[in-house]
Amino acid sequence: MKKVVIIGVISFIILFYIFTLKISITVDSDTVKVFDKYEEKVSSCLEDIFGFCLFKLPVNIEGNVDTNIIGNYKIKYESKILFKNKKIEKEIKVYDDEPPVITVDKDVIESCPNKNGDIVYKAVDNYDNDITEKVTKEVIDNKYVLKVSDSSNNETILEIPIEYKDNDKPQIKLKGPSIVYLKIGEKYNELGYTATDNCLGNITDRVEIKSNVDVNKTGKYTIKYFVADDLNNKAEITRTIYVYNKNPDIPVGNKVIYLTFDDGPSSYTNTLLDILKKYNVKATFFVTSNGSDSSIKRAYQEGHSIGIHSYSHKYNEIYKSEEAFFKDVDKVNKRIKKITGKYSKILRFAGGSSNTVSKFNKGIMTRLAKEVELKGYKYFDWNVSSADTTTKDSNKITNTVIRSLRKGNNVVLQHDTNYGSVKAVEEIIKYGLSHGYVFASLNITSPTVHHAINN
Ligand SMILES: [Zn+2]
Repeated sequence: MKKVVIIGVISFIILFYIFTLKISITVDSDTVKVFDKYEEKVSSCLEDIFGFCLFKLPVNIEGNVDTNIIGNYKIKYESKILFKNKKIEKEIKVYDDEPPVITVDKDVIESCPNKNGDIVYKAVDNYDNDITEKVTKEVIDNKYVLKVSDSSNNETILEIPIEYKDNDKPQIKLKGPSIVYLKIGEKYNELGYTATDNCLGNITDRVEIKSNVDVNKTGKYTIKYFVADDLNNKAEITRTIYVYNKNPDIPVGNKVIYLTFDDGPSSYTNTLLDILKKYNVKATFFVTSNGSDSSIKRAYQEGHSIGIHSYSHKYNEIYKSEEAFFKDVDKVNKRIKKITGKYSKILRFAGGSSNTVSKFNKGIMTRLAKEVELKGYKYFDWNVSSADTTTKDSNKITNTVIRSLRKGNNVVLQHDTNYGSVKAVEEIIKYGLSHGYVFASLNITSPTVHHAINN
C-alpha cells in the first residue's frame, strides 16, 4: 500500500512537472541599422518551472525585414513540441542614425564688407542621397551656418567663417577726352564720368571734383576726380584743361608754327580755311595747277600766303632741266598773279630741295637752289613732317606733328589734298595755342628752313 502511495506521489510529481513545462521564445535584438545585414537572434527553449532550459526548440519565423527601407517590421515566431506551442509577435525596427554630410568648396569665404560672398555647398545623406535643397543657410556672427536634417531627423550643422575684406580700388572713367582745349571765356561744361567699385558697383554719385579752371585766363588747368569706397580705398583721375587765346594778329615769340599746305588747292581747302579763320591762324599754301581759283582767292583774301609749288608736279618733267623747271614755275606763278594780282616770291620744290627723285639729272637741285635765289625767290623746306602722305588718320597726323614741335621755328608740311590732314589742323592749332606757340604765315623775310641737298 505504502509503495502504491509513493508511486502515486512520484507519478503526480512527474506529471505535474511535465504539465508545467513551457516554451519560451527570446528575441535578443529588435533593431537593425539601415543597410546592415539582418540576422535573426531568436532562440526557443522548453523550460521547466524553475526556468531551466531542458532543450532548445526550432523556431518557425514568419515575416521579412527589408534593411534597405527604414520602418517597423512585424515578425511572428512560433515553437512547438507535442501538445505545446508558443507564438509571439515582435516589431523589428530598421533605423538610420547617420547624419548627412555637408561639403563646401572653401574653408573660408572671402567677401566684400557689404556682402556675404558666395558659398557653394552640397549635402549628401546615406539614406536620402542628395538633400542639398533642404539645406538652410544663415549668416550668424560672421559665419555661414548651414543646417540640414535627413528624413530620420539626424541633423548636421556646418559653420564656415566669412572674412570680410576689400583691397581693390574703385575705378573712375572719364567721359569725353582727358585733354580739353577751351577758348578763353568759353564755358566748360563737365563732360561726365563714371565710377565703379568691385564691392559697391556703381558709385558715380560719390565722386568729388576739384577744379582750378579759370576760363578767363589762358593756361593749363586740372580737374581732379576723387572717389573712395567704404574701406577708404581711393581712386583719382585728372582731366587737363587748356585755356588758349586766339592767335595774335601779329605773331611774335620764340615758339612759332608755320603751317604749310602743298599740292592744293582741293575740294577740302575751303574747310581748311574755315578752321584757320576760327582761330585767326594764317598759313601758307604752296599751290599747283590743282583746284579752283576761288579757293586760292579766298586764301589770299583771308591773309594767307600763296607760294609756288609746281604747276605739273611731274618730277621727270620739271627736273629735266633748269629751263623746264622755270617754265613750270612761271606757269603756276601766272596762275597766282591772275588770282591775287601779285606774283609770289616764295617757293617750295616739288619733293623738297633734298629730293632724290631728280637724280636722273645729276646736280640739278644744287643748281636750282642757287638759281631760285638769284631770281629773287626764297624757298622753304620743312622741319616738321606730318607724314600725311602715308596716312589719312587725322589722330595719327595730329600726334606726329605735336610730337615733333620744338622751340623756335616749326615749318610743318601738310597737304590740303588729304582730308585727314585737314581735319588734324584744328587739334594742332588748339595744342599749339595752349602750349605757348603762335602761328604765322611764311613770307620772304621768314626764317630759312632748308634741307641738306642730296642731288
Ligand atoms: Zn608736292
